[in-house]
Amino acid sequence: MNNEEKNSIFPKIESMLPKEAGYVKAEYEGPDIVVYVKNISALYLDENAIRNVAAAIKKKIIVRSDTSSLMNPEKALEIIKEIIPSEAGVKDIRFVQEFNEVYIESLKPGLVIGKGGINLKNIMIKTGWAPKTSRTPTMSSDTINGVRGLMFNESQFRKKFLRDVGKKINVPIIKSEWLKATALGGFREVGRSSLLLETPNSKIIIDCGVSPGPAVKGMDANPDSDINKAFPYLDSANISINELDAVIITHAHIDHTGFVPYLFKYGYDGPVYCTPPTRDLMALLLNDYTKLVQRSGSSQLYDEKDIKKMLLHTVTRDYGEVTNITDEIKLTNYNAGHILGSAMLHLHIGEGMYNIVHTGDMKYGFTRLFDPARTRFPRLDSLFIESTYGGQGNNAPNRYEAEKNLIGVIKRTIDRGGKVLIPSFAVGRGQEIQLILENYIAMTKNFNLNVPVYLDGMILEASAIHTAYPEYLKESLKNRILNDRSPFESEIFEIVKGEREEIFEKGPCIILASGGMLNGGSSVEYLRRMADDPKNTLIFVGYNSTNSLGRKIQNGVREIPLPNEDGKLVPVQMNMEVATIDGLSGHSDRRQLMSFIQDIRPKPKNVFAMHGEEQRCEDLARSAGRMLHVDGTAPRNLDSTRLK
Ligand SMILES: [Zn+2]
Ligand SMILES: [Zn+2]
Repeated sequence: MNNEEKNSIFPKIESMLPKEAGYVKAEYEGPDIVVYVKNISALYLDENAIRNVAAAIKKKIIVRSDTSSLMNPEKALEIIKEIIPSEAGVKDIRFVQEFNEVYIESLKPGLVIGKGGINLKNIMIKTGWAPKTSRTPTMSSDTINGVRGLMFNESQFRKKFLRDVGKKINVPIIKSEWLKATALGGFREVGRSSLLLETPNSKIIIDCGVSPGPAVKGMDANPDSDINKAFPYLDSANISINELDAVIITHAHIDHTGFVPYLFKYGYDGPVYCTPPTRDLMALLLNDYTKLVQRSGSSQLYDEKDIKKMLLHTVTRDYGEVTNITDEIKLTNYNAGHILGSAMLHLHIGEGMYNIVHTGDMKYGFTRLFDPARTRFPRLDSLFIESTYGGQGNNAPNRYEAEKNLIGVIKRTIDRGGKVLIPSFAVGRGQEIQLILENYIAMTKNFNLNVPVYLDGMILEASAIHTAYPEYLKESLKNRILNDRSPFESEIFEIVKGEREEIFEKGPCIILASGGMLNGGSSVEYLRRMADDPKNTLIFVGYNSTNSLGRKIQNGVREIPLPNEDGKLVPVQMNMEVATIDGLSGHSDRRQLMSFIQDIRPKPKNVFAMHGEEQRCEDLARSAGRMLHVDGTAPRNLDSTRLK
């Protein structure tokens, strides 16, 4: 027995398992414990064996066969192919020696699993290999292939990393006497979101973003934008990066993730917790972000290598899974309704000492992509809530009106022979607009625009990632994807690959291009080519941050500098119509935020407003406090609050 085993719960696990199972060893694997046995079928005879152990030690237990009981992969492959029905559409089967697992990727994982998990059980009993299923996206995705390939190729590293993480999590600590929260970024502003939580024993960070405007030179409409406001205040808060126990990510947008690879570049080598779609979307958005920074000539914070390093340190958790991230802190992700995989975090600290809900960015209202944000939590003391539209009067029309307005502007433009440009965030708004257009054009018989809808930029790749995670989407949308009627693949969409000249020469059309705030992305080139024609329309459908080019145009600026083919800034006249359609945002408007605060259970004892312009954070904090008769505050960056 080595040291690790002597001091731990492993002997307890061994003693609780049926003798016939042939216990070999137990190991930490991230927050979970893996038990290796010689005779796995003995555990299937006693269905309660594993459940009882897990309940006794309060941890998730994974059972696998010991290496000595594994069938050779060639033979195992034959048997697996016999067990899985051909309709499952298996794309890939790989044996991962480091984990004694077999990865089975297919178009229909439900059929691979079988009724009540019968196929997985048979594979396990007959071959010894522990099957792990994943879904092939219905649209091919380089990002998903890349991330899955990376995880597979680096299995050896992953094994060691997860073991180390597990050991650290399971070091028993003495009860913490205090809990402190420090605002590192994204308070009284939108951008560079980051919050530090500290006890005498643990240090964790929630989100670690950048402000996309000031971080990228030349991509910001405001010449005063300050590079010092681009990144979270890690230095000023005196945090040494390698002291951190964990980083938790609410969702993949750059203002929540853009600084994470930098942590790895400067010595962090701990876990990054997020949902599986967030991991894949982070890979897409961060790689794009570094390219954008590179093209703009700004100094590189980090490169692709550091992003890879970050991905190799991710530990993914689905909604509802309770996970120990340190010995005293338990994390659970819940649906936030904002973008694919976006999570509201519930943190349970110190066996009942304190409970926090951090909303990340969230939508408490109707969207075509997601269910509204969750309002039920096990316990709650402090609520950290986003305030993007938290100001008095930041109300948007309802969705029905908003969609009608959008279609109205599009029709008006096309009727006069113009083109429509809709710049949108590649992840989130891009898909929502795709669904609205698909719904109106394909589903409404007497409504035929008869113009092409072009998709340009990262939107397509982001949509592909959505098709790999239908269970994260709304039921109706999930069912369409599972039944080969994915709206993302509707024939109304035409994909722009490289050459755009033809689009400018042809007549009316709708262009959905990435780069929501016009701070970069393919929308900028379209804007330059379309701006001077008054027949055309530019439609904003999402949030434009204070310093963005999008906000400037919204405010009525008629001459704007845009990069030409050579990347040189040239003045462009804005003669095209500019329209803003409110009510399509992935953020809650003021009314929705207040309903959320009213509906959340249990009632929080403190409310902290964040992720909003100064006045909006203050407004929301005051109103929330008044409504609930509790303290509502809008902390400034670098403010620390002792919570307990
Ligand atoms: Zn967001
Ligand atoms: Zn955000």
